[in-house]
Amino acid sequence: MAPEKAIPRGPLPRRQTRRVMVGKVGVGGTAPVVVQSMTNTDTADDFATAMQVAELHRAGSELVRITVNTREAAAAVPKIRERLLAMNLDVPLIGDFHFNGHKLLAEHPACAEALAKLRINPGNVGKGAKRDEQFAQLIEFACKYRKPVRIGVNWGSLDQALLARVMDENARRPQPKDATEIMREAMVTSALESAARAEELGLARDDIVLSCKVSGVQDLIAIYRELSARGDYALHLGLTEAGMGSKGIVASTAGLAVLLQEGIGDTIRISLTPEPGGSRTREVVVAQEILQTMGLRAFTPMVVACPGCGRTSSTTFQELAQDIQDYVRDRMPEWKLRHAGVEDMTLAVMGCVVNGPGESKHANIGISLPGTGEEPVAPVYVDGERTTTLRGDNIAAEFRNIIDDYVVRKYQPRA
Ligand code: SF4
Repeated sequence: MAPEKAIPRGPLPRRQTRRVMVGKVGVGGTAPVVVQSMTNTDTADDFATAMQVAELHRAGSELVRITVNTREAAAAVPKIRERLLAMNLDVPLIGDFHFNGHKLLAEHPACAEALAKLRINPGNVGKGAKRDEQFAQLIEFACKYRKPVRIGVNWGSLDQALLARVMDENARRPQPKDATEIMREAMVTSALESAARAEELGLARDDIVLSCKVSGVQDLIAIYRELSARGDYALHLGLTEAGMGSKGIVASTAGLAVLLQEGIGDTIRISLTPEPGGSRTREVVVAQEILQTMGLRAFTPMVVACPGCGRTSSTTFQELAQDIQDYVRDRMPEWKLRHAGVEDMTLAVMGCVVNGPGESKHANIGISLPGTGEEPVAPVYVDGERTTTLRGDNIAAEFRNIIDDYVVRKYQPRA
């Protein structure tokens, strides 16, 4: 009988990739998986863009990408950087360049200086004979200003000449592959051939990050497995056009979780469409939560809450869970500066005594609200021991005080 296969107890070890320095942030190699995001302001509006970069960075985005699409946008980039430094925010900015990037960088050297990385889409750098020439110019700027480059292939703008070539090659095979496989192959080929060309032009492999963004989860998984198997470039993961709300979150999580579990991926971005009036920072929170719930990184204390059921007699329980979730996120910027390890804290907010005490004992601090027919009291557990019982109308404020006291006692001041 064949020996039973051991079930892995956690994610597979990270695939070995090159470490790329993006400003002060390491991507790839042994660095933790980095969270990044992108602004949706008009980059030419340097004030609005700097404010949104600051908001994204404060929410936890370690790198922020801005589009550089016009002369005005290119001229604004150094001002954005200055505004951020004036706020004491040394966040690496990534410039997203498309059709006219070669011209903008030639005309605005200060833009190139202010950026920590360039993102180039090989499908959008130019058509026909100009494509190679303009791609080469962009790489030469990267070399001149010593900036790493993300070669970001996107299936919505895949290099059509390359796709035609891959299709021709496929037609000559004895057993041609289907259209889906050809699209995947063309994406990977575009990324790897562009990277090889960039290296020929003098860009170091340690200055190259690759991405191949698609909007289908199965395509994403297949493409990145292939990309990872065929090179040691640092990889940026993300589903493009993931969509709005739960659809975008679920699709991104489904795709990224599989790859991250296999040790694939060095930096991630969640391309959520914000709800009207919704915060751009949602994509950062989702990216952090994917990494934290998978046990890959810790950013902020996790709040465990039960879903509630017929035993929860009012909305008090949901309100408390939301209140505590918001509270720890609000307090985290200050806590993380002062208290080492606070991001590992876990909190439980439970709706009744069925699972409440048990779940509370597993958390650093837990509370069980009274369910239907239960005595109107809320037992609190700290480090597995019942320490107090809250009652009355002030439970949320008292529970927050217990959390504050615990953070000060348990997590030592940072050196
Ligand atoms: S802990 Fe209580 S309220 Fe929450 S889901 Fe379980 S039985 Fe329902």
